Amino acid sequence: MRYWKKLSHKELQRRIEKALSDNVDFNTDTSLGYPASKLDDKVFYSDAPFLKDAPTLKTYVANPNHIGCHTIGSSEVAFTGTQEIEREVLRVLAVDVFKCKEEQYDGYIAPGGTEANIQAMWVFRNYFENHFNAKNNEIAILASEDTHYSIPKGSNLLNIDLFSIPVEFENRVINVNVLDDIVKKAKENGKKYFIVITNMATTMFGSVDDMNIYTSVLEKYDLPYKLHIDGAYGGFVYPFSNKESTLNFANPKVSSITIDAHKMLQAPYGTGIYLCRKGLIENVLTKEAEYVEGMDLTLCGSRSGANAIAVWMILFTYGPYGWYEKVSILQMRTNWLCKQLDELGIKYFREEKMNIVTIHAEYIPEDIAVKYHLVPQKHGKGNKWYKVVVMDHVEIDNLMQLTDALKELR
Ligand SMILES: *Cc1c(COP(=O)(O)O)cnc(C)c1O
Repeated sequence: MRYWKKLSHKELQRRIEKALSDNVDFNTDTSLGYPASKLDDKVFYSDAPFLKDAPTLKTYVANPNHIGCHTIGSSEVAFTGTQEIEREVLRVLAVDVFKCKEEQYDGYIAPGGTEANIQAMWVFRNYFENHFNAKNNEIAILASEDTHYSIPKGSNLLNIDLFSIPVEFENRVINVNVLDDIVKKAKENGKKYFIVITNMATTMFGSVDDMNIYTSVLEKYDLPYKLHIDGAYGGFVYPFSNKESTLNFANPKVSSITIDAHKMLQAPYGTGIYLCRKGLIENVLTKEAEYVEGMDLTLCGSRSGANAIAVWMILFTYGPYGWYEKVSILQMRTNWLCKQLDELGIKYFREEKMNIVTIHAEYIPEDIAVKYHLVPQKHGKGNKWYKVVVMDHVEIDNLMQLTDALKELR
């Protein structure tokens, strides 16, 4: 870990104060051109005494706009202080967590994982168009059937066909032969360029795809591809629980990654993170964005700088060891739950390094599912699975209520 460390509350506060003072201050500076200001002070008191000790809330009130992308070219000068904090967040994630070389990445804090995934597919689609003269109907997206619905959403928006690859029912693994068959047929039907989405933990199962299954098949047919890791769910868990993970930029086949801070990191909503290798994001440059200083290379326009501060605050409050400990505690609780289920003879799926347990629905009466807010794979008829996500607030005492209720059914 080169950049990620733990800081004291004083240090955190000082750093954010400094960042805010490097931004335009709408209170004191004359700033005539922006359709922006601090939050309305009839409603959001900017002089409330508690703001002094609450750097994130203070930033919300100051309301910096992080419009554009700040890892490349120039950026809006009014918010340089807090943009620097966003760059620090991206650097910790790209270099320290996802093993990218220094300065060899671009990215931004998107409104969520959905946008980060769509941004990834948009970048790749335009990459194939710009570099290979590809037509939309020659490009295909490959993703497993357990993939998040933001991928079909993106396929629809970007007008690129999505091929959903079935997985085995019990272990949620992609079947190579089925994939081979789908790719072969797609090629015969005119698909020449492939966008692969590999899951670093699916939403329903926590399953982690073996990306080599995709790359080996595509290389066998000599097909150009670009690969994105959807780590919206697992990005803040899997790299810590599995030190051997190769789902990162050290692997030359990986081009981009989505990581949601507003899931496992417990950051405020609006903190999906998109990271890609250098040389890719330019493919989505919107030349018409002339009033934005620098290049607009993002899907959204305006976005809150306070979100970057919130993520930075969490990362630097814990530090890498603190975060590792937190992930380890969730792992231990998940192990505990699995052991109880084993003893009860209840079947479930669990990716060993993840904190999600997905139970065969036949063991869970509906009233229990409702009472404990278990999430079904499918609302309504034909649901086959219920999941338990072991989050910070899900302690052994809470899990025990569920296992006791299941014990009583025997
Ligand atoms: C939640 C999730 C997303 C989408 O994230 P939002 O932040 O809700 O837009 C994408 N992929 C996976 C695997 C997810 O779990």
